[in-house]
Amino acid sequence: MTFVIKPADTPSLRVAGVEDRFPVRRIYCIGRNYAAHAREMGVDERDPPFFFMKPADAIVESGAKIHYPPKTQNYHYESELIVGIKKTAKNVKPSEANEFIFGYGVGLDMTRRDLQMEAREKGRPWDMGKGFDNSAPCSELHSANIIGHPTKGRISLTVNGKTKQDADIKDMIWNVPESLSYLSTFVTLEAGDLIMTGTPSGVGPVSPGDVIVAAVEGVSELTCTIC
Ligand code: MN
Repeated sequence: MTFVIKPADTPSLRVAGVEDRFPVRRIYCIGRNYAAHAREMGVDERDPPFFFMKPADAIVESGAKIHYPPKTQNYHYESELIVGIKKTAKNVKPSEANEFIFGYGVGLDMTRRDLQMEAREKGRPWDMGKGFDNSAPCSELHSANIIGHPTKGRISLTVNGKTKQDADIKDMIWNVPESLSYLSTFVTLEAGDLIMTGTPSGVGPVSPGDVIVAAVEGVSELTCTIC
């Protein structure tokens, strides 16, 4: 097949221990999945989580330098456990959800908080607050065949060595199988989809020159520098 213009490259992530890469199809993000973060955002923690998306080419790999984005004065980090899907998932039960998971990593749901909040207040879409260029730094993925399916472990984030987020993935309101199951009732998940599973409390702004390190214990770590 030929195209009238050059098609974009497939965004992808490294996979620990192998040369082949994980091709990224879509990025689904969960809003409000840790009670303390829901409270710091001024919303009712008992509300069910909801989903939004980032474009697949918002991916940046660990170690990258990313430019402070335009149109914001309040650019925030959110550290999150990320999940890679390996096969079609539609209306799956929580008890079967792990069968659809390729592996896990750590990601940053970078956010133009001022644009997100303005959209929230006006009942408008979040896309320009959440789905902009380079808004999804991600570590390499680690296969569930090797690390299993993590259900607990410290999730943390530092800026210039100072701890800003420090929680445990066991404190998610909806765990990974429940989230995957629920999401699969709205859309058909396909191989290559990534799920960013929500951030704990402690979100905050970064500036040019800042170095962010995010980690999920037993999974991975990622570094990114703002320039
Ligand atoms: Mn998030």
